Amino acid sequence: MKIIKSIKGMKDILPKKSFIWQYIENKIKIILYKYSYLEIRTPIIEKTKLFNISLGKTTDLINKEMYTFKDKKNNSLTLRPENTTSIIRCILENNIFFKNKKQKFWYFGPMFRYENTQNGRYRQFYQFGVETFNMSGPDIDSEIILITNRIFNILGIKKYITLEINTLGNKKSRIIYANILFKYLKKYKNYLNKNIFYKLYKNPLRLLDNKKNNIKYIFNNTPKIISCIDIDSIKHFEYLKNILNFTNINYKINTNLVRGLDYYSRTVFEWTTIFLGSQNTICAGGRYDYLIKYLIGKNIPAIGFAIGIERIILLLEKIKKLPINIKFKINILFIIISNEKYLKINSIKIAEKIRNELPNLILKINFCNKSLKKQLSEANNKGIYIILIYGINEQKKNKITIKYLYKRKKQNLLKLKNLIKELKLIFYHESNYFNYW
Ligand code: ATP
Ligand code: MG
Repeated sequence: MKIIKSIKGMKDILPKKSFIWQYIENKIKIILYKYSYLEIRTPIIEKTKLFNISLGKTTDLINKEMYTFKDKKNNSLTLRPENTTSIIRCILENNIFFKNKKQKFWYFGPMFRYENTQNGRYRQFYQFGVETFNMSGPDIDSEIILITNRIFNILGIKKYITLEINTLGNKKSRIIYANILFKYLKKYKNYLNKNIFYKLYKNPLRLLDNKKNNIKYIFNNTPKIISCIDIDSIKHFEYLKNILNFTNINYKINTNLVRGLDYYSRTVFEWTTIFLGSQNTICAGGRYDYLIKYLIGKNIPAIGFAIGIERIILLLEKIKKLPINIKFKINILFIIISNEKYLKINSIKIAEKIRNELPNLILKINFCNKSLKKQLSEANNKGIYIILIYGINEQKKNKITIKYLYKRKKQNLLKLKNLIKELKLIFYHESNYFNYW
């Protein structure tokens, strides 16, 4: 049979890499908990209607990128292209604001977008994200930026990325600016393709988000949004910059920075890098004070961000800082040298007993029929400490053979009770093995 391959833009993560993923995930999770953010997990499929309402009519996400399909009852469902919408659905549905109005959450998981795939741009990709609710001040804006800063510091990529910030003002500022931008960009309409032209009429702010280099020059001299920003939003922005200055966070003001979705206001930010070509954003965030009001009429200010994990890994690879030393180390290899049924059952029992007594160790049983010699030679060079051997001879004597690979000590034949004592002596320092991740 011809092998059926995976879907374009969707990648397998093989064991060597999955260790790196786990390492990164754990580092990020720990930081989020330390800032007192709690995890929310939502389903990866939602009703299409939910995204249609929340994501805005003129975004690429809605128009081109959604994986939408019908279920058996003809309901239209969509694989989530982002998680902010689902988190809002979840907190509203579960009445989370009932007890505490101020909330800080994080999520992690795959998102799905039907995009043109490239290095760093996939159709299934993973995001770590944060969403906070009911806090309108610049203090929370600064906190989530500080979190991203700490995450990138811990992951060792801080030197290779830049924080860009901007303010989009309130709703009115956006409308005024959109008009000014429209008038300016209309002059270039002959240079714009059909798709871009459509956006110019529907939502000119989105054009600033353009990734195509050939028309980037048009945007260099566009009127800047700052002249349209309302006074309260300016104060908000100044206050945020103040906190960032006092906490030693370097940033660049990018007046062309807008977010892809329509519901953002005031603070927007991105962490970008020059090392990944046009997939240069590794984290994007911003304030979306109007979204929940738009959805259910309640005034609930919110701000969040999302980090693209694939791009972090690509960047780590590029700057040669991938933590490749995270090796999975088997502590004990258990070799069975017989295919006899009761001997095998006995071996499994012994292995389980060892796992009960030494729960931090990694013990692998070889369920293969290879000769002892072959299994021993395979075990060499793998950093294995101890080999246990159980065959007919051992079964008869009710003992187990222990071989020491890490020092010149002669192999021994031990009763199970003594073997466990011996292993506890050898591995006493391994009690924190998993903290290593
Ligand atoms: P881009 O401008 O690169 O398309 P975006 O503005 O669509 O990104 P967001 O929706 O804000 O991105 O998602 C936040 C982060 O998620 C991005 O900064 C990026 O790191 C990552 N990301 C977004 N789309 C993809 C994708 N198709 N493949 C891999 N990572 C992605
Ligand atoms: Mg995109």
